[in-house]
Amino acid sequence: MNGAVVGYGKSGIAAEKLLKLKGYDDIDLYDDKAVGCLPLREFKDRYDLVVVSPGVPIDRLPELPTSYTSEIDLAYGWMPADCKVLGVTGTNGKSTVTHLTAQILNNAGYKAIACGNIGYPYGEAVIDAEEGTIFVVELSSFQLESTCELSIDAASVTNLTPDHLDRYDSLDSYYGAKLRILQLIDLEGMLIAEPNTNIVNRTLNAMYPVRYVDNELKAWPKLNNNKLMLGRYFVDISKFKLFGAHNIINLTHALFLANAIAAFEGDVTHLIENLQGMPHRVELVLERDGIVWINDSKATNVDSTLVALKSCKGSTVILLGGRDKMGDFTALVNELNRAASHVLLFGEAAATISKQLKGKLKAEITIAETLHDAVNEATKVAGLGSTVILSPGCASYDEFSGFEERGREFARYVKEAVNA
Ligand code: ADP
Repeated sequence: MNGAVVGYGKSGIAAEKLLKLKGYDDIDLYDDKAVGCLPLREFKDRYDLVVVSPGVPIDRLPELPTSYTSEIDLAYGWMPADCKVLGVTGTNGKSTVTHLTAQILNNAGYKAIACGNIGYPYGEAVIDAEEGTIFVVELSSFQLESTCELSIDAASVTNLTPDHLDRYDSLDSYYGAKLRILQLIDLEGMLIAEPNTNIVNRTLNAMYPVRYVDNELKAWPKLNNNKLMLGRYFVDISKFKLFGAHNIINLTHALFLANAIAAFEGDVTHLIENLQGMPHRVELVLERDGIVWINDSKATNVDSTLVALKSCKGSTVILLGGRDKMGDFTALVNELNRAASHVLLFGEAAATISKQLKGKLKAEITIAETLHDAVNEATKVAGLGSTVILSPGCASYDEFSGFEERGREFARYVKEAVNA
């Protein structure tokens, strides 16, 4: 049998391995950037099966393949017996919820793997997995667009706010792509979601139960003196180490997802005591001379920056900028006026953000050319007791290969600047 993989990134590499395991002995690889691949313009519909990666819109191919699938669907078909799938999507918090859910299930004695868009393809994870594994799969809107076969046992939609307006022609089409997850939930499965009208309206006739998480934690679930009540079970939140109120919401989604498998009872605080956050998400870099430096490089849209700002106490120096994704930075004005002592703008988006914020802030705005310059500037303006946070609200591609490199470089510049 012959096959093709279109888009040869991490997910394409996993797809190639799966095709080989499925007996495809002749596989062509298409990618305009990866070394050794054929250019997309040479694609012809001459294969038994074509796997199209999420980064490549199918209409970019000169011919539409008659028989095509996605890495996610291919992986689903390759899962060992008795496995379950927990799916996570949303605008922000996906990786954190995915990572927390897998840790909670492992703490509870299950064999769970965090995979998908989190950086470890689902297609890789299934290859050597044992029977009975729980796959916690983070799904991006691009992955969901091309997924049809996957059947999810419990899904979480963390939240829905504007993002990727540079890639979708309208908010509605972005929400529509994310909410394709609703069609992939098993009839006996369940959905956990924020009570967003876009989600509520699309689940009115759902056959599976929907559990809405009150972002204020006042109604359901309820937070009372550190006790987070989740129905038949509860946790003492004072034992949870991750920073910020948004992470308690993320924890709630993770506990609901894990509970769909584990059916918890009573006090399950022991399952959340050792939970780790992920790098580049409101992560402490260092504390030196009374100044706390935080790396939130993963905040690539305005909404995630807003959430990070809300968890900053005291006087805050914030570094905003990078490659503009048409974000509305005026949404930050109230929080900036509460928390920011200085706003440092850097990168391609600096002038655009400056225009949006000009005249609206109590804090001074300074424009720096690069992230490195912005860090050097921060060492001059941050006083004793301040927090300096990189929570850029933009993509990183103007200076870096991705948010990971931007976060690593930020930490390096900070250490260099304070001689750590
Ligand atoms: P994603 O995988 O969806 O990009 P992450 O878990 O990697 O989300 O978190 C990215 C950033 O989004 C964090 O650094 C934080 O600023 C913000 N964030 C995390 N969780 C939430 C949440 N529940 N609601 C809003 N913003 C969040």
